[in-house]
Amino acid sequence: MNETDVVIIGAGHNGLTCAAYLARAGLRVRVVDRRKVVGGAAVTEEFYPGFRNSVAAYTVSLLNPRIIADLKLADHGLKIVERRAQNFLPSPDGSYLLTGEGRTADSVAKLSAHDAEAIEGFSRELEAIADVLRQFVLRAPPNLVEGFGATAIREAFNALGTANILRGLSLEQSRNLLDLFTRSAGEMLDERFENDLVKALFGFDAIVGNYASPYAAGSAYVMLHHAFGEVNGKKGVWGHAIGGMGAITQAMARVAREAGADIRLDAGIREVIVEKDRAVGVVLDSGETIRAKYVAASVNPKLLYTRLMPSGALAPEFLARMNRWRNGSGTFRMNVALSALPSFTALPGEGDHLTAGIILAPSLGYMDRAWQDAREHGWSRAPVVEVLIPSTLDETLAPEGQHVASLFCQHVAPELPDGKSWDDHREEVADLMIATVDAFAPGFGKSVLGRQILSPLDLERQFGLLGGDIFHGALTLNQLFSARPMLGHADYRGPLRGLYHCGSGAHPGGGVTGAPGHNAAQAILADHRALFASR
Ligand SMILES: Cc1cc2nc3c(=O)[nH]c(=O)nc-3n(C[C@H](O)[C@H](O)[C@H](O)COP(=O)(O)OP(=O)(O)OC[C@H]3O[C@@H](n4cnc5c(N)ncnc54)[C@H](O)[C@@H]3O)c2cc1C
Repeated sequence: MNETDVVIIGAGHNGLTCAAYLARAGLRVRVVDRRKVVGGAAVTEEFYPGFRNSVAAYTVSLLNPRIIADLKLADHGLKIVERRAQNFLPSPDGSYLLTGEGRTADSVAKLSAHDAEAIEGFSRELEAIADVLRQFVLRAPPNLVEGFGATAIREAFNALGTANILRGLSLEQSRNLLDLFTRSAGEMLDERFENDLVKALFGFDAIVGNYASPYAAGSAYVMLHHAFGEVNGKKGVWGHAIGGMGAITQAMARVAREAGADIRLDAGIREVIVEKDRAVGVVLDSGETIRAKYVAASVNPKLLYTRLMPSGALAPEFLARMNRWRNGSGTFRMNVALSALPSFTALPGEGDHLTAGIILAPSLGYMDRAWQDAREHGWSRAPVVEVLIPSTLDETLAPEGQHVASLFCQHVAPELPDGKSWDDHREEVADLMIATVDAFAPGFGKSVLGRQILSPLDLERQFGLLGGDIFHGALTLNQLFSARPMLGHADYRGPLRGLYHCGSGAHPGGGVTGAPGHNAAQAILADHRALFASR
């Protein structure tokens, strides 16, 4: 019979995490995805004969250590290695910044004695606040509820727990927390540092997946969002999953299947079935129905509520608010197959800097102008590009002696102005991105053997990322924490009984964290147990 306990929409890493926890708790779980492969935005693909790379998400840090341990992902094939250097920022004037364990202080000192003094304090400040955020990652934020009852009591305890975590902060740290949630990264960095590359190191994190200037209010939070991860126990560090990001989701799928979850691919959902204000299953594109006690959706919340719900199922105010959910991260993503490693003018030849995230955006002003230009023109003519060459750490990705690189590019408009389409400008913008790298590493363009291009429109078409939004919705204060995806629904429960949010559109937001999947599974299990207890 086509009936199960839980149906999960989407086999991205959060859908899979949710499935694994629920199946291990003994529930019958079915995951359905419209794509032919598991993984959503965390996948590896051969994009040019003999060359494989992570297609969308490309670097790992935020994946929660408890989820890695609980699901025994290492035993299921996942191996994460550290970059040998963390970040490399070349400047057109020939100077550069190279960060990483045992490198940052010396490299900053060569640029500015003042900043060498300041950076340790700033990093400590950021780390202290990131430590607080880490405590919120695997718990539902306080949820606003109306009236009294069991839910209100549960939320009162949750609010007390939240207050307790925040009490661990000194008054000065609380002030820093407020700054980081509300201010612009640019302002905060200008106050602390004098060198452009040092500011750009932190400022880049403020605009990753954030279609905004680093001087936009709230961009400091996006910077913080990229600081709460770790690799193999080392906080704030970024690394590489051997085999690419698909190795993470392949391991998750193995765990979920071993626990009994059924994963069906090439099976898009057309509509959620709603009966008497309760989600009771889904209709596939094929017309087949699957009935379930619980429906968990890992898709972008705007996609769920504006495209996959029967008309009339939602309160008009809820739907109107969801229509205003802001998508569009300003991202353009490429993979390139390379005949040789690039050589950067600022630091020629091979070396550990080629294992780093190479940030081509030498100042906050450059990033600000990139955003302004994209808003007016549709894409920035001097874009921000992060180059990552994972084949310097992983020989499974390219033929011997050759390489693959990820190019993560900001800023481009989610929708082009004047009725222009990304279908007509994809190649032109891809050429620009390669020329941008070439300006820092002459000869790069000539070494490109093949390329894969994903404009915002392609990200939407291939992955269901509305507006190409890499995080399933902007990480702005009105779409974060208790407001993600909406005040009153921060506890992973949707506006209909039996309907749950288990993707990046729920707290703590985007990134390959596994956290929304984990937290939604806890909410479903709590409701399941309460249902049985009441019988
Ligand atoms: C270009 C890019 C670069 C990124 N870089 C990084 C990075 O380096 N590090 C990092 O940590 N994060 C990165 N991110 C963010 C991160 O990848 C995402 O936040 C995360 O992978 C989202 O996971 P998810 O499981 O919540 O959703 P998704 O991975 O989006 O999964 C949702 C799934 O739902 C499926 N779906 C959609 N519609 C339907 C339907 N109608 N029926 C059935 N299934 C459906 C989709 O096919 C998809 O598989 C990046 C994202 C992108 C796009």
